Amino acid sequence: MGNVTHAIIQKIDLPFTTSVQVFMKRDDLVHSEISGNKFYKLKYNLLQAKQLQKKTLLTFGGAFSNHLLAVACAGKENNFDTIGIVRGNEIENNFAENPTLLQCKKLGMDLFFVSREEYREKENGKTAQKIINEKANIYLINEGGTNDLAVLGVKEILNEETKTFDIICCAVGTGGTISGISLAAEDHQKIIGFPALKNAAFLYDDIRRFSNKNNFKLHLQSHFSGYGKVNEKLIQFINQFKKQNQIPLDPIYTGKMMFELSAMIAKKQFAENTKILAIHTGGIQGINGMNIVLKKKNLPILE
Ligand SMILES: *Cc1c(COP(=O)(O)O)cnc(C)c1O
Repeated sequence: MGNVTHAIIQKIDLPFTTSVQVFMKRDDLVHSEISGNKFYKLKYNLLQAKQLQKKTLLTFGGAFSNHLLAVACAGKENNFDTIGIVRGNEIENNFAENPTLLQCKKLGMDLFFVSREEYREKENGKTAQKIINEKANIYLINEGGTNDLAVLGVKEILNEETKTFDIICCAVGTGGTISGISLAAEDHQKIIGFPALKNAAFLYDDIRRFSNKNNFKLHLQSHFSGYGKVNEKLIQFINQFKKQNQIPLDPIYTGKMMFELSAMIAKKQFAENTKILAIHTGGIQGINGMNIVLKKKNLPILE
């Protein structure tokens, strides 16, 4: 599938002295277009869709969704037609200034914009139902792409080289990624998830649906007031992190994770010499879109 590389593990410099060692697994670089965890989540779903001789991938996403773009890329590369149902019908009129949706379109994805109410109904909404009834051979992928096959793919984020770490950190949206990591982790490893949304305690149940292991916990204060919300401190942190480590972080997931992880280390919440691995789950494509929003609000932008 496309240009796939082996994700390197890179040592991270923090702006203070500590005996805790932090590394980042660069899964943002694993594929030339389908970045980060979405690559792993789609892998076995694409195989399944092929085996079932499906022609079209249908999925759901918000205006800046990494998942939507990943499906558009994966579809193009694997000869599927793709359809995206987008949250918010107000976007339809000005989506030309949305870099994520423009790129989806360029890759051949058919976009349908629906109201937030209809969006909540997912495949039972009237637009989705109409498409499903009219077209044969549709392979449905949930919002965020989490299902059994996605979790199976995510397990492959961990490998021989990740076995020596004490703690593994990842950003959490729907919980599919942390589920696979929890399942694939060694017995001595603990997993910390950093949810990108507020009031995310419900995710414990969602994750337990896939992982029966008791090796993970969620850091529920990492959302910066809510999904997609950012402030100046976060932007400054991401810009500084990039200068210091030559690693871009996205403002929705990995930036918040590294901000919080770094604060936890500064507050000495880990034992001395703990070896931590943070997974870079990608999302870099969202930076341009976020900068458009930041400029409108007269906030500093992501460099
Ligand atoms: C989608 C996404 C996540 C969340 O993954 P889930 O499996 O939904 O928890 C984390 N980081 C990035 C960059 C993402 O795009």
